[in-house]
Amino acid sequence: MARAPRIAIVGGGIGGLAAALALERRGAEVIVAEQSPALSEIGAGLNLTPNAVKALRVLGVEDTVNAIASGSEFLNIRSWKSGRYISRMRRGDFKQKFGAPNLSVHRADLLEVLAGALRTTQIRLGLRAVAVEPGERRAVARFADGTTIEADIVVGADGIHSVVRTSLFGADVPRFTGCICWRGMAEASALPHDIDVRDGALWMGPHGHVVHYPVRRGELLNIVAHCDSDAWTEESWTQRCDVSEVMATYTGWNPALTRLYPCSTRWYKWALYDRDPLMRWSRGRATLLGDCAHAMLPYLGQGAAMALEDAYVLAAMVTRHADDLSAALTAYEQIRAPRARAAVMGSRERARENHLASPWARLVRDVKFALRQRFGGSGKNHDNTAFQVGWLYEYDVGKEAG
Ligand SMILES: Cc1cc2nc3c(=O)[nH]c(=O)nc-3n(C[C@H](O)[C@H](O)[C@H](O)COP(=O)(O)OP(=O)(O)OC[C@H]3O[C@@H](n4cnc5c(N)ncnc54)[C@H](O)[C@@H]3O)c2cc1C
Repeated sequence: MARAPRIAIVGGGIGGLAAALALERRGAEVIVAEQSPALSEIGAGLNLTPNAVKALRVLGVEDTVNAIASGSEFLNIRSWKSGRYISRMRRGDFKQKFGAPNLSVHRADLLEVLAGALRTTQIRLGLRAVAVEPGERRAVARFADGTTIEADIVVGADGIHSVVRTSLFGADVPRFTGCICWRGMAEASALPHDIDVRDGALWMGPHGHVVHYPVRRGELLNIVAHCDSDAWTEESWTQRCDVSEVMATYTGWNPALTRLYPCSTRWYKWALYDRDPLMRWSRGRATLLGDCAHAMLPYLGQGAAMALEDAYVLAAMVTRHADDLSAALTAYEQIRAPRARAAVMGSRERARENHLASPWARLVRDVKFALRQRFGGSGKNHDNTAFQVGWLYEYDVGKEAG
């Protein structure tokens, strides 16, 4: 194809904007159609594991992200009641071990970095896609206000309730995972001085776990509390609730954790859904990227990481197969689908082990984590990450896709 390919992306979240950035840097003409009247993200944190940071590197924004991120020397895994340290997993050496550090960011800050890096992409706000028609040589996205956008490729990056996915592969329902969670964000100045929150923390207890980590260079503390429940199943990031509900759920948990809860002035709750992984992501000249292709539980911190990797691979394949964009989509899906599938399934498995109810099962798990930290695991490089996720972290999307 002599002219630059024209690519329309439905959805201006982290995945959609990362794809726009990767594609425009390779010379594509890109349009992003976002349903909201403004590009925005919710006030929550995001942990970026080394593979995500390597994706940001090849997207050309690692330094800018680094400037708004927080690092931490350890991930402290602690017992829910006694506060005992089950494992102190060193993260400070991830750059040496996995080729990039672990960073945590405010979601809105990351979105701003991605949007700020765009130069030629046309962003059209307030456009809600209702259907995509994939053809052999073109695809068309249709919007609620009657607008249509025709492009060489249409990319669905419209999240877990994707209209594009439904258009391409028919309706299916996201799977309620039996887990709900609460999130809060506390100003550092509001936190008790006797509790050290500079490192990432993961508190593990019966039927639940809680994570907290600093964001915005330590100005804020992000807190996410998970528990098993079938009582409430709305999938919304913006449902407010009272801190008393969080306090009541975690009665009996260690005060070094529960004293943090009232420090957040706002709490939100939502139910966690994922989807069974798809075997195919593309139909004709339309494809999927990010959560709409592979929504997963957040327990390995890989949802946004996978979206960033998808973005880079899609752009690389569009360049490599510039004369045959259908081949580009096939190559994209062949590279991405197995890895994303492994992350979806791995995240489900973590849900089970994170929420063990039996004290004996928890003891066995805790001893296993402690031994891995001390001696390394059985995998390649004696992986001493508690969850044996070195295989996720060591991946370098720039090397994989060229
Ligand atoms: C509790 C929790 C914690 C998490 N923590 C982490 C973490 O630490 N690390 C990590 O890597 N991942 C994490 N994730 C996962 C991560 O948040 C998602 O994987 C990521 O946001 C997906 O990005 P996306 O762009 O694919 O979708 P989304 O962020 O959902 O963006 C979709 C965009 O499409 C727009 N849109 C939707 N429908 C339409 C339409 N019809 N027309 C036009 N626009 C539309 C939306 O408005 C939105 O802007 C977490 C998830 C949860 C639930």
